[in-house]
Amino acid sequence: MIATPSSQAARILQHLCSKGLYGDVTEWCEMRGDCVWVVTCPDCRTSFTIDDDEYEELVALSRAEGQSCGVAPVVWTE
Ligand SMILES: [Zn+2]
Repeated sequence: MIATPSSQAARILQHLCSKGLYGDVTEWCEMRGDCVWVVTCPDCRTSFTIDDDEYEELVALSRAEGQSCGVAPVVWTE
């Protein structure tokens, strides 16, 4: 059992990895240019909204874990 995650990114990763899944990632941008990331669990459809920093943390954590779960860093729009 993993200790209680300290960040939203860690919570999302734990949720997805407890099922061995990749989340569906969507980027939402407002007209002002503020963007958020929405990660949706493909299993129970729970969605998590995170900002750029948290998304980067989530990607980094996914890589660090080295597991087949989390988020796939495929959606780079720069
Ligand atoms: Zn779920």
